[in-house]
Amino acid sequence: MTAAERYDIVIVGAGHGGAQAAIALRQRRFDGSIAIVGDEPELPYERPPLSKEYLARDKPFERILIRPPAFWEERRVTMLLGRRVVAVDPGARSLTLADGSAIGYGTLVWATGGSPRRLTCTGHDLRGVHGVRTRADVDRMIAELDGVDRVAVIGGGYIGLEAAAVLTKLGKAVTVLEAQDRVLARVAGEPLSRFYEREHRVRGVDLRVGVTVECIEESRGAACGVRLGDGSVLPAQMVIVGIGIVPAVEPLLAAGADGGNGVRVDAHCRTSLLGIFAIGDCAAHANAFADGAVIRLESVQNANDQATTVAKAITGDAEAYAAVPWFWSNQYDLKLQTVGLSTGHDQAVLRGDPATRSFTVVYLKQGRVVALDCVNATKDYVQGRALVLARAAIDPAALADAETPLKTFLAA
Ligand code: FAD
Repeated sequence: MTAAERYDIVIVGAGHGGAQAAIALRQRRFDGSIAIVGDEPELPYERPPLSKEYLARDKPFERILIRPPAFWEERRVTMLLGRRVVAVDPGARSLTLADGSAIGYGTLVWATGGSPRRLTCTGHDLRGVHGVRTRADVDRMIAELDGVDRVAVIGGGYIGLEAAAVLTKLGKAVTVLEAQDRVLARVAGEPLSRFYEREHRVRGVDLRVGVTVECIEESRGAACGVRLGDGSVLPAQMVIVGIGIVPAVEPLLAAGADGGNGVRVDAHCRTSLLGIFAIGDCAAHANAFADGAVIRLESVQNANDQATTVAKAITGDAEAYAAVPWFWSNQYDLKLQTVGLSTGHDQAVLRGDPATRSFTVVYLKQGRVVALDCVNATKDYVQGRALVLARAAIDPAALADAETPLKTFLAA
């Protein structure tokens, strides 16, 4: 192996976590060699706009780059793009790439995210069926859009609903198909789900809950509709599948790392393999905001903050990961901002009237604030963060009074 093929730090995955790990290492004056290996051909870019401004063609690709090209050169970060890691040898501290080449590392940071979960039914791989994860995915969708009148979105999670909002604004007839009895069931409480269902329906989206998909119908090698569990067929020339991701961790698990649904990491994002960290969507960690449950968080916040945790550990300033989870989603003119984790809440308190399109849902667990979903309510989002951090115990009736600023409760 030549000297050029070994780096002090190799980061696998040129996404949010991978980019931020390199940025944070240089900010912390790490002076060794750093390489990022990414299987996409592009420099690191922001993924959230893919189902928002980029799909809507409101933002060109250059404007969603995480840093301009010159940044990486100036910081001496070697970009090895369009290259996929297929195996890890932790003993030899070496990676094997799909092209058969090898790269040595001193420390490895695994930041590979995941790939969209695919349907398993007949027709799942037809032309016109799309996952939404990469620029290439969305470019393929955009290239087909002119010939598309009807779109079926399978999955009423954030990505599916955001895509539905954009495509409705572009004049397409959109149907959302959700298997559960409400949209956003995995991530939000019922008041929020019902609000978004109404907002989509008012704009003409045919939003159906409690429906199952039997298969994708084909015409001349392309999707032409979705056959539902009740036997009916919904015509659609484009099918968008937003049913979650499968974490990209096979090479690490094959190398012996603990894990399953993601690779298991400790509070410093160390895997069970010596010299190997994992961060972002693929990292299963015990999260204090989920009462210590081992979870994977799929958010920019988590990818960035875990990247910083790793940079601190590598530069000898280790600090356990304890960041407050936050997230956002844009649909139509609605800006949702979430802080904390609502999973496992036993009470949801509504602040404000959803009919005004500005309100907050505060989630409590055993009388303590664990999360907030704020719709067009940035003040609540900003002030509510401290309540989540403090796990504040607040009278639900007082919380429900939207006239009382949330910061009042912290002072009390
Ligand atoms: P990624 O950013 O996915 O980066 C992983 C990279 O690793 C990818 O480029 C992947 O191709 C590459 N890779 C995988 N395997 C290999 C391999 N073996 N070798 C080399 N490279 C590999 N989060 C929010 O907080 N707010 C939002 O509004 C929001 N909207 C989103 C909208 C969309 C359409 C999507 C897809 C995601 C959205 N997210 C949002 C989630 C957020 O983008 C992710 O949580 C974040 O990108 C995770 O960062 P990551 O570094 O873990 O993974």
